[in-house]
Amino acid sequence: MQRRDFVKKAAVGAVAGAVLAGCGGAETNGAPAVQTHPNVRWRLASSFPRSLDTIFGAAEVFAERLSSLTEGRFQLRVYPAGEMVPGLEVLGAVQNGTVQMGHSASYYFTGKNPALAFDCSVPFGLNARQYNAWMYHGGGMDLMRELFAGFDVVNFPGGNTGTQMGGWFRRPVASLAELRGMKMRIPGLGGRVMNELGVTVQVIAGGEIYPALERGVIDAAEWVGPYDDYKLGFHQIAKNYYYPGWWEPGAALTFYVNRRAWEGLPEMYRQAVEVAAREAHTDMLARYDALNPGALQKIEAAGVTLRAFPDDVMRAAYAASQDLLEQDRTDPLYDRIYVAYRDWQRASERWFGTAERAYADFAYSVQS
Ligand code: CA
Repeated sequence: MQRRDFVKKAAVGAVAGAVLAGCGGAETNGAPAVQTHPNVRWRLASSFPRSLDTIFGAAEVFAERLSSLTEGRFQLRVYPAGEMVPGLEVLGAVQNGTVQMGHSASYYFTGKNPALAFDCSVPFGLNARQYNAWMYHGGGMDLMRELFAGFDVVNFPGGNTGTQMGGWFRRPVASLAELRGMKMRIPGLGGRVMNELGVTVQVIAGGEIYPALERGVIDAAEWVGPYDDYKLGFHQIAKNYYYPGWWEPGAALTFYVNRRAWEGLPEMYRQAVEVAAREAHTDMLARYDALNPGALQKIEAAGVTLRAFPDDVMRAAYAASQDLLEQDRTDPLYDRIYVAYRDWQRASERWFGTAERAYADFAYSVQS
């Protein structure tokens, strides 16, 4: 009798745990599964180190808001890359339930599915505003949800860096011909395009870039933008800072939620996740836009010259990018996402190329 009671209680506990947390970590306190405000403890694995405080910080903004919206009942512990899960294994860890949540850049996982690039950024793709319009009001979210369903993940936009910089070059690049043969640290699709342009692409982890650039092992390196780049000190060893980072015109980060964990949440907590994610998403770009101007000033004061990529480099990169994005269209879901993304971009170009562009061209140069 005693044993039967124990078995029964254990079974109920297991069900409640599964319902509330999906994959462990919940403190159910013996409460029935129907409780609408249970105590929930989740873990989030970030793909980023604490030192990238704007990007890593988005997960902290998310966790704080999630807690305040649920009066402290829904707690999320955020782990930097490598503490619980290696940075480049975050999607898999959410998929298999090692953690309930992840925060990452989906283009890290294009080896699993090339279409994941559209969730983050593709060369000459959407900027941050166009991306938000597409995701929230242009059908992008439905397509991304379909894509992530294949990983048992529910996705939420989780920040944007804005248009990135093109990186640090030890010597100026006056033409496409001068770019050929250079050795550059540039990952992902941007690296594949650079490779098409004759650049020798090097894959180097964040912490190794500075010494490689300093010793001349590489001629150039890209990272993010003024705020993050300044912290790594590139301005001390490479005096040509190129723009724009056409391979990341609006790099979006994403929160991943394990599907079973998501399905186990009460409706109010799901709403809290959505609201907190939206806030973290918006806040990251605002922080970058607040921090980049001051960092750029310091970089220029250190004797760095800002340079635009030559026109022939931009045109060759654009052509190579279009070819690259066409390559995976044999996959039906990739093709649908590709076409929707491309059509959205084309449809919004006329608008963004009118009032926004004319205003920006004038307003940002009138005082100089
Ligand atoms: Ca970058």
